[in-house]
Amino acid sequence: MNAAVAANSLADPPVRTRVAPSPTGDPHVGTAYVALVNYCFAKKHGGQFVLRIEDTDRARSTAESEGAILDALHWCGLAWDEGPDVGGPHGPYRQSERSAIYRRYVDELLAAGHAFKCFCTSQRLEEMRVAQRAAGQPPRYDGLCLTNSREEIERREAAGEPFVVRLKVPNEGVCVVEDLRRGPIEFEWKSVDMQVLLKSDGLPTYHLANVVDDHLMEITHVFRGEEWVSSAPKHLLLYSYFGWQPPKLVHLPLLRNPDKSKLSKRKNPTGILFYKVLGYLPEALINFLGLLANAAHEGDGELMDLSELVRRFELEHVPTGGPVFDVAKLDWLNGRYLREKLDPVAFAGLAQQWAALTPERRTRIAALAQPRIERLSDLGLLLAFLFAGRLPLRAEDLRGTKIDETSVRKALALALWELDALAEWTVAGIEATIKRIADVLGKKVRDVARPFYVAITGSPTSIPLYDSMELLGRDLVRERLRNALDLLGAPSKREQEEWKAAS
Ligand code: GLU
Repeated sequence: MNAAVAANSLADPPVRTRVAPSPTGDPHVGTAYVALVNYCFAKKHGGQFVLRIEDTDRARSTAESEGAILDALHWCGLAWDEGPDVGGPHGPYRQSERSAIYRRYVDELLAAGHAFKCFCTSQRLEEMRVAQRAAGQPPRYDGLCLTNSREEIERREAAGEPFVVRLKVPNEGVCVVEDLRRGPIEFEWKSVDMQVLLKSDGLPTYHLANVVDDHLMEITHVFRGEEWVSSAPKHLLLYSYFGWQPPKLVHLPLLRNPDKSKLSKRKNPTGILFYKVLGYLPEALINFLGLLANAAHEGDGELMDLSELVRRFELEHVPTGGPVFDVAKLDWLNGRYLREKLDPVAFAGLAQQWAALTPERRTRIAALAQPRIERLSDLGLLLAFLFAGRLPLRAEDLRGTKIDETSVRKALALALWELDALAEWTVAGIEATIKRIADVLGKKVRDVARPFYVAITGSPTSIPLYDSMELLGRDLVRERLRNALDLLGAPSKREQEEWKAAS
């Protein structure tokens, strides 16, 4: 019996799937892809789709990112039955609000001897890893703290020594992960690490929280990225220690660039909001991702909305090889949606909505333009860059008189790295980054800023640069800086290394 039929049989619990993004960055098209597959499977079987926020990494998680992910998935037209914003019977749906729940389950594992307290310092762990590397062994906790006596554990704990809680993992035998699409995948237990479940600050790691939540939220099927496949043995072990039935697993292939490398923002914009800002329709993006999730229809020229994607969804057609995120195909689909699905009135309304001129944004842009024009008709050319995709630039537009070409390339490359790492996309953060780059290059900020003006606005003078960058958003800025750098010549491997080291 195939799983789709099994999911429908009366004896089985109702299908419940989930998407569980970590709010540590901009909403990624891969998240929309995983969400769409989970959504389609749940809806195909009359089940429910849950959104859970996995923010156990407190240092990297932000409320801003969470909000952006929710907005982006809403924009895609995916509605969840339960989640942090809509509530539901299994809440809270944000892991940072569930600490007490995880503590209870860690205590249960400790009491049953399935987990242990580990007092090893980070220095000892580092020495252990170095020795393992030198001996050609895979990195794995060596089990030192497994031998601590109860008295010793109590003494060290009473003395306030920090500890983590680790999972006990067998040393021998094989774990078989049953993937509904890939079949059985075997892992030797000795290659599975004794995973930290609870950190020294008392917060859980992804592995513990994910298993506890999938169980308590009654998730029956998990479709997730293939990068998690090596975590599956740890998860299955936890399910068996708790005596719980694990959900059925499907590991989805990562989306790829046309050259088959892993989809990365270095080659293809990966942010959902980038596609929104550039004027792709959510229907087209979802149709495109839906085709990538359905190998039987990948080549179809038919436009399919979400309900049609659900209707045609088959587990058997979920690809196992990396589907190609081919922007040319997305463009073609989007063009068809614009031409075929909208009458002129609807199209005009959509164009207005796309321009995203909320009253605040309109006032902000107007205030920036007001001191820089003599006639209202100057606004068109001055602000066109805010409403454009790729700008028609030539390499000579970027070459200045005050700063040599290598420095321009270096400034652009450093900006691409540093702006990606910027925690918050604000004028202040962008400005500090460009100033720092000018410092590193030993040049005047004004001279370094000029090629940025050209790359971002298409002109050496425009409305203020840092505001322009904030208004455009990180994805579009990245795309423009990358385009400029490509025009002047992308850095060689050696240049990249040298520039990174010097920054
Ligand atoms: N929080 C994980 C992520 O960001 C979810 C992995 C899973 O679905 O188990 O991808």
